[in-house]
Amino acid sequence: MDFSQSKELHEEALDHIVGGVNSPSRAYKAVGGGAPVYMDRARGAYFWDVDGNKYIDYLAAYGPIITGHGHPHIAEAITRAANNGVLYGTPTKLENKFAKMLKEAIPSLEKVRFVNSGTEAVMTTVRVARAYTGRTKIIKFAGCYHGHFDSVLVQAGSGPATLGTPDSAGIPKAVAADVITVPFNDLEAFKTAMDRWGDQIAAVLVEPIVGNFGIVEPHQGFLQAVNDITHDAGALVIYDEVITAFRFTYGSAQQVYNIEPDMTAMGKIIGGGLPIGAYGGRQDIMEQVAPLGPAYQAGTMAGNPASMAAGIACLEVLQQDGVYDRLDKLGARLEKGIVVKAADAGVPISVNRLCGALTVYFGDTKVTNYDQAEESDGEAFAQFFRLMIEQGINLAPSKYEAWFLTTEHTEADIDTTVDAVGNAFKKMAE
Ligand code: PLP
Repeated sequence: MDFSQSKELHEEALDHIVGGVNSPSRAYKAVGGGAPVYMDRARGAYFWDVDGNKYIDYLAAYGPIITGHGHPHIAEAITRAANNGVLYGTPTKLENKFAKMLKEAIPSLEKVRFVNSGTEAVMTTVRVARAYTGRTKIIKFAGCYHGHFDSVLVQAGSGPATLGTPDSAGIPKAVAADVITVPFNDLEAFKTAMDRWGDQIAAVLVEPIVGNFGIVEPHQGFLQAVNDITHDAGALVIYDEVITAFRFTYGSAQQVYNIEPDMTAMGKIIGGGLPIGAYGGRQDIMEQVAPLGPAYQAGTMAGNPASMAAGIACLEVLQQDGVYDRLDKLGARLEKGIVVKAADAGVPISVNRLCGALTVYFGDTKVTNYDQAEESDGEAFAQFFRLMIEQGINLAPSKYEAWFLTTEHTEADIDTTVDAVGNAFKKMAE
């Protein structure tokens, strides 16, 4: 494949945009470096790059594009919104309509507030939890990504339940010291942390199904135990459903496990591809938020008509019969194909999948926590990524990211992908 235009554009980008990209995950640093592919247009399950190469897309823009690129119903809603003026700075009917849709889909949302990104949504839930409880510490699970605000760019130290250390320059140690990190799916470590710090904890921040070191489900009973222990300590449970909301079912991961958090943060899918975030939860907690309460949160672009229209249209598509069954069937076909090709070639992999989202880890270990994901073979993934993109299959350039199916992928796309996977595995085994 010829990538010469992408390379030229990357050279130009390096002169103007820091690192050439506007989000570090778009760089190819984790897969050997060089120019990322510059996409030119997208439709359904496909991308075309600036050199004219066509790809089947499994990046789905890191998750929002569950109905495929340029879905006509969403495109029409955005066009209508654009023609009516994209930003008013006043309340609109669309905000009411969309808030009602979210509440109907996710019953734990007694009140909601729209913001502009997943980061903003999670950040505000943490602030509101601190305001509500009068406490400052939070617990998060190792390897879970909750956006790029200071409190959550924090990793564990070496122990099973440790006070955090900053994971990025520019984060004060004092901020990290208020964050305790424990391994996901490790109830004992969680109990240890709660025994030690429980009365200082404002909230426990949970990705109920992890999407950020691949797709990792909670062990049976884990989420319920986390809820019970957290509530016993007088702290709040926040679900970060930025990846999971409307991904596996119409609704949220909390419905998959029939368990309710106190607050939920959302983003990605609910914007239909436009910038969005939303948070919500129990009424008495949400009443902490200005203008009703003392916890301040605001936004010039929040609830803008274009994002509202796109989000509503996206959920309307997802309400159609059979959408999630179809994603699940396609996901199962892809998973099976990948597993068979790996066995044929003798390449050790393990696959985690739920509905239309999956992760292929290079190694034998079934991944249930971050340490195991970290141990998976990054060099093998980098080689695989390159072999796939050269065959027109677009994956996220990181061993930790998921493959996301859309409603527009076809069985034929899956079969083409599985053939490409087979070719890649054969080369890797040589
Ligand atoms: N929370 C989770 C679980 C995410 O996966 C992400 C982004 O990938 C975020 C929060 C941050 O969302 P955004 O990139 O919209 O700020």
